[in-house]
Amino acid sequence: MACRCLRVDQLDSHVLDSEIRSIAQDSVDDVVNQMPVWVSRIFEKLRPELKITLEAVLWTHRFSRGVSPGQEQMDISYSGYTPKVITGHFLVEVFIPYLSRRVTELSGRLEIMRMYAKVEAIFELGSLLHFLYFLRSGGHSTLTESILSLRNWNNNQPTISSINYDTQNRELLWHAFRDVILLTYPFIEKIRQRVVKKQKLNRKFRSTMEGFDIECIVCDKPSVIPMIGQKCEHVACYTCIATSRKMICPLCLEEKEEQQMEFLAKKLKESSSILIDQ
Ligand SMILES: [Zn+2]
Ligand SMILES: [Zn+2]
Repeated sequence: MACRCLRVDQLDSHVLDSEIRSIAQDSVDDVVNQMPVWVSRIFEKLRPELKITLEAVLWTHRFSRGVSPGQEQMDISYSGYTPKVITGHFLVEVFIPYLSRRVTELSGRLEIMRMYAKVEAIFELGSLLHFLYFLRSGGHSTLTESILSLRNWNNNQPTISSINYDTQNRELLWHAFRDVILLTYPFIEKIRQRVVKKQKLNRKFRSTMEGFDIECIVCDKPSVIPMIGQKCEHVACYTCIATSRKMICPLCLEEKEEQQMEFLAKKLKESSSILIDQ
């Protein structure tokens, strides 16, 4: 069963219509801009005609479906919107404003232009007052609707039972899941870091020597110009620890232990010379 529709639905339908109109207008402008200059110049002169042709094309939607695209989206329509009424609506809303403006422009007479500007201003003021009245008390959403006594109606009665709670439940469930993840993530990350650190602390030079794997404890890549902790035997690139002035093992420093680092090559050389001496 149909009923009178909300003000917000009527306004939304107008907004949708004007959006569709501007999208179509932009597309036409793009096509005109792509054309050679002399063609563009002709189109520029015929801009009002181009605009009204576009409007007429868009209004065919009303003739075929009985509603404007915006109304269709909002599920509202005018009652008794016959082709005759649509033609009248088109004349009042689109054609008469176009014709009066065009005639005034082409006449080139100053007093006619002034007269037209005055009439237009009065109409604009009337529209504004009508719009304020509509916002306050509802009814016809535009002045032309008022003149033609066109009133928007809902095609289907909106009822509270038609709301689908499944989507809302799903949304709530997702939010709860997300909150749980956000809450637990720091703890999981902390545990992960601990495990990684333990692995690194155990990664010493002698334990990895067999596979010739001397991974840096800072960047986790095969170390470049390897440095080794004097007692802890952690290996790191020279560049990775060069920022600390004292050349201290960063891993042991976190455990509050200062372990001086030295060049691995130097240490190996020393130990081999000790072996040779023995
Ligand atoms: Zn490194
Ligand atoms: Zn160390």
